[in-house]
Amino acid sequence: MADKIHIKDLEVFCNHGVFPEENKLGQKFLVSAVLFTDTRAAGLSDDLEKSINYGDISHQMHDFLQKNTYRLLERAVEELAAHLLKTTPRLECIQIELKKPWAPIGLPLAYASVEIERSWHTAYLGLGSNMGDTRKYIEDAVHALAQMDDCRVEAVSEWIVTKPYGVADQDDFLNGCLQLRTLLPPRELLGRLHTLEHAAGRTRTRPWGPRTLDLDILLYDDLVMHTPELTIPHADMHHRAFVLQPMAEIAPYTLHPLLKKTMLQLRDALK
Ligand code: ADP
Ligand code: MG
Repeated sequence: MADKIHIKDLEVFCNHGVFPEENKLGQKFLVSAVLFTDTRAAGLSDDLEKSINYGDISHQMHDFLQKNTYRLLERAVEELAAHLLKTTPRLECIQIELKKPWAPIGLPLAYASVEIERSWHTAYLGLGSNMGDTRKYIEDAVHALAQMDDCRVEAVSEWIVTKPYGVADQDDFLNGCLQLRTLLPPRELLGRLHTLEHAAGRTRTRPWGPRTLDLDILLYDDLVMHTPELTIPHADMHHRAFVLQPMAEIAPYTLHPLLKKTMLQLRDALK
């Protein structure tokens, strides 16, 4: 997204700081934002409704920074970015800089500031269950994700009954995929998924063994990463029909960022 709306050095008198005097007396802050949004429709129509109103955003930033008091600039910009991304339609990504021109450090300076960039991301999750009320475990997980204010469930596949993969002497699985819009970075997303698995009473016994709920990150934007706890794209997804069949349903033309094949192509290659 190349289009941007800039708000530069909006003045806000507020109380952020680690010193008690700062929280009591307050001081001047300057906040700047770059809003990434597609302005084409507004550019063609001259209609403010099709864009983001920088006046509204300025007032929101002003009110948010006055209403809440944080110790750190880091915290203030993190909370402010999340608030704006959650509440502003069409806002894909935001850069926010918060400057403290009167930072009480006992030395003259122009300002100290913290600048961050935060955005919505698209992740695809694989869901599976083969113990107990499998449909309920899976539907509860979808519902729990949909309730989170930093996640939006955008598409859900059909749930399909599949034969166990890897370890055969266990019950059939119910499997499916969903498309998630999320503000969470990959590791935090994995942490949330582990919390949901745990809430479903999942105990980790043997690899590929029976489970009440399995939640995997299949894709995350076009990210490629590999750490001991997280591999994206999911390392084995291109071998698994129970992943590719539902992925071909909800994201047929989405590319696997390493194999450069669409979900449809990968599914058809398995047959
Ligand atoms: P599996 O899903 O392969 O049957 P588990 O659900 O028990 O196995 O996952 C074991 C570990 O795999 C997780 O604790 C997690 O750290 C790691 N892992 C690595 N990549 C991913 C991924 N893309 N999605 C989910 N877990 C992953
Ligand atoms: Mg898993």
